[in-house]
Amino acid sequence: HWLKEEKIKLSTLCSEPFERIPSKRGRRFPIAGGIERNINQKDDFYEVIHVDGMEECIELLENLSDGDLHHLFIEMNICKGGCLNGPVMPKNGESLHLRQHRVKEYVKKSDSLPCKQIFKNIEYIDVRKRFFDRTFPKKEASEEEIKKILKTMGKREKQDELNCGACGYNTCREKAQAVFEGMSQMSMCMPYMRSKAESLTNIIFGTSPNIIFILDEEMNVKEFNPSAEKVFQIKAQEIKEKPITLLMDDDYFQQVKKTKQNLYNQKVVYNHYGIVVILNVLYLEKENIMLVIMNNITVQEKNKEELARVKEKTLNAAQDVIDKQMRVAQEIASLLGETTAETKVTLTKLKNIVMGEVGEDE
Ligand code: SF4
Repeated sequence: HWLKEEKIKLSTLCSEPFERIPSKRGRRFPIAGGIERNINQKDDFYEVIHVDGMEECIELLENLSDGDLHHLFIEMNICKGGCLNGPVMPKNGESLHLRQHRVKEYVKKSDSLPCKQIFKNIEYIDVRKRFFDRTFPKKEASEEEIKKILKTMGKREKQDELNCGACGYNTCREKAQAVFEGMSQMSMCMPYMRSKAESLTNIIFGTSPNIIFILDEEMNVKEFNPSAEKVFQIKAQEIKEKPITLLMDDDYFQQVKKTKQNLYNQKVVYNHYGIVVILNVLYLEKENIMLVIMNNITVQEKNKEELARVKEKTLNAAQDVIDKQMRVAQEIASLLGETTAETKVTLTKLKNIVMGEVGEDE
């Protein structure tokens, strides 16, 4: 924060030697055992040891509190490998061994002032240090509460407690205690979350009305859900690890494998099974598998066909009616035509007769 305020960018600065020449011995301190190595022990009154790593430190402290160990000078590093493997070391991929090597080289090459000069006036240095009790009051969970939390994390039996340490706690019970204290969350248990996700996936896979199966790169069936079993009339264990070509043509799957492009909404008719499906094939590159999802639309397709048939029938019936009507109309028209012609002939004859009679009278 201060560096930001002062607008100092570490990456733009050049390296400089230390202002004071430190003790040559002290330069090894970042390496685990660096202090132990530089203790100038004049008598055997106490033993100098070093310990590094969380587990090792805990073990040693337990031994001390049990009163099993005495007369020790202990160099203790929680970080395995010492400060050089601490949490704020640059994450540039350099190994601990490389860092250790560099520090050792630096110690070898660097100048050193005689101890006398470094520690002059040493008697005036106040080396006292006051420590305050900063213990965080911890509420211990009861056995019942621990069991309840463990159960919620899917650890019903002793064998469910994997104690894998993936959550940062050494045991599942420690983790449960941390959850109780509000310092951790249940979701931070990898095996629990994984099994939860898997069981959810299994529920979806097992209950989906869609046909779902998974193919490997050799087109062998890896998974086959109950809907697929029902439609293709084969049990999952009978088709697993066998080629999909035993059930259907694999052209679409080969195409997806070759192009690595997902296939969506392809209508496919499987006459052999009497089904019509909408096919989706997803290529999962990381796993090198294909997820096949088929939406069975056979019923909808049959309904569509039925509707088309009804429409056709209705149209035909309507056409029949029209044709009949036309025929009747034509017949009426022709009858009317004949009558009109006859009437015309008769009236003309009558007119001629009448006109003839009038002429004779005149
Ligand atoms: S990650 Fe889960 S299983 Fe592993 S120790 Fe922690 S609580 Fe136990």
